[in-house]
Amino acid sequence: MALGEFELIRRFFTAQAVRHRETVLGIGDDGAVLCPPPDHELVVTVDTLVSGVHFLPTVDPERLGHKALAVNLSDLAAMGAEPRWASLALTLPEADPAWLAAFARGFFRLAERHGVELIGGDTTQGPLAITVQALGWVPRGAALRRSGARPGDRIYLSGPMGCAGLGLKIRLGQVAFDDAEAVLRLEQPEPRVELGVSLRGIASACIDVSDGLAADLGHLLEASAVGAVLEFEQLPLTEGVRRYLAGGDWRLPLVAGDDYELCFTAPAERVLAASGCVPVGHIVAERGLWLRKDGRDIELLPQGYEHFA
Ligand code: ADP
Ligand code: MG
Repeated sequence: MALGEFELIRRFFTAQAVRHRETVLGIGDDGAVLCPPPDHELVVTVDTLVSGVHFLPTVDPERLGHKALAVNLSDLAAMGAEPRWASLALTLPEADPAWLAAFARGFFRLAERHGVELIGGDTTQGPLAITVQALGWVPRGAALRRSGARPGDRIYLSGPMGCAGLGLKIRLGQVAFDDAEAVLRLEQPEPRVELGVSLRGIASACIDVSDGLAADLGHLLEASAVGAVLEFEQLPLTEGVRRYLAGGDWRLPLVAGDDYELCFTAPAERVLAASGCVPVGHIVAERGLWLRKDGRDIELLPQGYEHFA
């Protein structure tokens, strides 16, 4: 029997473990009612994943459910926010119960790990696309921003670059070797939520790397009205990416998207004992982005994925 819109919502999207006392009203009415604690500010972000643009139509739906939420939690992490709520707008070609069950499993497993309560959404029929809106909070004035980097600040990365990009090349059959780590990072990225929260009051600026390091660091530099020098030899790379780079295409870690690591700046005198973050360069007053590689400085254009470009 065909699964109708309301039965679908009830069956797959209303059973969840996370409930916050700040949720006055969740799923089931025309809107949710939320009451963040006093002296906090709400941080809101939204991201859409379109089949064929952001993911391959054949991707495991459980991983897709995870990723749809993860990319939004990554934006909250870049703001230093603690995630609390999400809404989910699903456009589906058909209501396939097995697909929906797997999607919901991936979504709610990540949601539970980060204390995210689903508080509403929309369900429509059409070409497969998933929009998630995530909400979190920060103590008043504590949100991290892209602006705020100053000349002399160090630039840090929370994890390897180009790994998800390699995963995509593997999925597209463009690389001759396999790398399960790269494919996992592409399809099931881990948002750096705890790191983002711990960087409040420490990072002078922060962004998450979704469109490629050159492009996203470029946005941070633009917002801060500064420039930067990146040290190629210091970029954190996985074994698989090193192997790929040995083939000659050294640009991958600079231009490939989907890594969802944090790129942030902090004053140089600040000793960052922080969990696995790697210094990869420094901020300069002159605007622009230079890559120091093999003893030369190469100017990088802010290239990365851009829709409509
Ligand atoms: P409306 O017509 O008022 O927009 P809907 O009929 O679309 O409301 O949705 C009914 C309820 O189910 C609303 O509370 C809505 O937020 C929720 N909802 C709809 N789709 C989803 C979904 N995919 N996930 C979670 N909640 C959903
Ligand atoms: Mg309504």
